[in-house]
Amino acid sequence: MEQRFIDWLVSEVGVDPRNDVGIGDDAAVMRPPAGRRTVLCTDMLCEGVHFPASPGYDPRAVGRKAIAVNLSDVAAMAGRPESAVVSVALPRRGGQHVGEHLLAGMLEEARRFGVALVGGDTTSWDGPLVVNVAMLGSVVPGRVWRRDGAREGDVLLVTGACGGSLLGRHLAVQPRVTEARLIAEMVTVHAAIDISDGLALDLSRMLEASGCAAEVDLALIPIHPDAVAAAEAEPTKGTACDRALGDGEDFELLLSLAPAEAEKLLAAHEHGTLAGWPGTSLTEIGRVVAGRGMVGIAEDGSRSVLPPRGYLHAFN
Ligand SMILES: [Mg+2]
Repeated sequence: MEQRFIDWLVSEVGVDPRNDVGIGDDAAVMRPPAGRRTVLCTDMLCEGVHFPASPGYDPRAVGRKAIAVNLSDVAAMAGRPESAVVSVALPRRGGQHVGEHLLAGMLEEARRFGVALVGGDTTSWDGPLVVNVAMLGSVVPGRVWRRDGAREGDVLLVTGACGGSLLGRHLAVQPRVTEARLIAEMVTVHAAIDISDGLALDLSRMLEASGCAAEVDLALIPIHPDAVAAAEAEPTKGTACDRALGDGEDFELLLSLAPAEAEKLLAAHEHGTLAGWPGTSLTEIGRVVAGRGMVGIAEDGSRSVLPPRGYLHAFN
């Protein structure tokens, strides 16, 4: 089965002129874009954790997500996605069907963002579907967005809206690749992270790396309608705002910028002068201050400690 699958895959993927050797050989040979640094990331999706267990998942949607979550990581570094390799452990039963639809979804998402699939590995086993993508991108030297660069006095911005992604958005990830490129072209960003495990948790990671604290204006947090619906369906699991802070898998960008840069960006966004901007909202949610930890400020001005809630991949 494997050779037939690989032959099909090679013919589907085709040749990308950016590479000397693409899919189908022992390894790919790339030509790095001149004058740029290489960005490299990887992300694994497991059946029952990152998508529903069989038969509850659509392999094409899983394929799209596997590429999209890596695109989100490249975007969060201000990188331009270039190419990817894919490893798949297919379930023995029904693996051919799953594999073909999975790869079709991957190709669809990769083509949408100009990413070449340059290789991979396929195996089958008695376990569930596991898929891993490693992605290469490129970035202008000195213009990379790290998570440890936030500074006291910075303004915190977030793209899109958060919370309730389990209602379906977690399988329809919209990586903010274009938004990241346009922002990087216009302003200096001190620090950035993509929201994979939860706004509060990923913000705490940025602050910890940067050695700073933050004040978050709770009333300004962009709450997705899915978070409102989820909170109404299960009121014991927190308010819509709690869900926006802690649900995760939003794959929005969280940015820390000097106030003047944030103002410039927000004005351009508001006046629609960011040519090619996909229509994603952009919201100021707070500021970076000296110290450690996070404080939530309610609409009435009351302050409370904001716990770094989110999704933790526990093991022991
Ligand atoms: Mg990330």
